[in-house]
Amino acid sequence: MPLTPAASAIPLVPAGLERVAHHRRDSAWLDAAFQSDNVRILVMREGLPLVEGSAPPSTPQAIGDRLAPGRPLLWLGAQAAMLSPKATRLFLGETEKGSPVFALELPSSFSLDSSPIAGLGVFDDFRVAASAMDAFNGGAAATARCLFEWHRRHGFCSVCGARSKIVEAGWKRLCDDCSAEHFPRVDPVAIMLAVHGDKCLMGRGKTWRPGFWSCLAGFVEPGETIEQAAAREIFEEAGVRCSAPADYLFCQPWPFPNSLMIGLILQADDDKLTIDENELETARWFTRDEAKAMMAGQHPDAHAPMHFAIAHHVLKAWLDRG
Ligand SMILES: [Zn+2]
Repeated sequence: MPLTPAASAIPLVPAGLERVAHHRRDSAWLDAAFQSDNVRILVMREGLPLVEGSAPPSTPQAIGDRLAPGRPLLWLGAQAAMLSPKATRLFLGETEKGSPVFALELPSSFSLDSSPIAGLGVFDDFRVAASAMDAFNGGAAATARCLFEWHRRHGFCSVCGARSKIVEAGWKRLCDDCSAEHFPRVDPVAIMLAVHGDKCLMGRGKTWRPGFWSCLAGFVEPGETIEQAAAREIFEEAGVRCSAPADYLFCQPWPFPNSLMIGLILQADDDKLTIDENELETARWFTRDEAKAMMAGQHPDAHAPMHFAIAHHVLKAWLDRG
């Protein structure tokens, strides 16, 4: 029996989308594909995906807020090119049936109400929409959001300071002044469950919804491995040493804005906590039965991470080990 789920079971992990990167430099092919009858175009504005329906979107206020039901992405065809001449175009790849897949980011000034698609869709909170996405939609939307966020934050060359431009269908930036090439960032984050006997360690951020708990997490720093980062973060945040090698589970692209969440389980040397209150509101050990109740929504005052977050699956992987 496998001890960890397949990567395809983790939300936002892409499936059914071939990147066909060899097309990225072929502007004639890209232009033809963008206007083809079978093109599929995902639309975003300021990181929010366009979803079906005209009802107003709901916006969570804090991490751990219960989410309204997500609505399906509203995929458009070639007519999406008419929406705005200022849109940023990204080539995501092809479906398994060979349909080209693009994403467009509309300018912040774009008004749905006065557009040709008024009444068909709304821009919804990414996490709300992601909660209903399958692997194809989630992978496409997360990839697009990561790239659009990177472009938004990296408009200038980090070598000489001149404005850089988008090339290769959205997968690179080029500085015309100094010729430096810039590639999209991926920031690795270790997200981990320290366990000790029949207990697991979870923490709370200061701004999270009351009662919401999750795995500890932190960015991997230069010069360390993922496993070392996981052990370091647990010690820094909760004062718990984990001397044994960390156990890698699976990872998840996380487009807030460019992270790769890397799930691990670590055996703690002991269960004494020394919490860094600059980093966490608090942390505590949960027994296996408590964690099961949290996952089932039956714990009286503690809530587990939601299904689309990798922390949910890290906790589930530990529970599944029995
Ligand atoms: Zn430059």
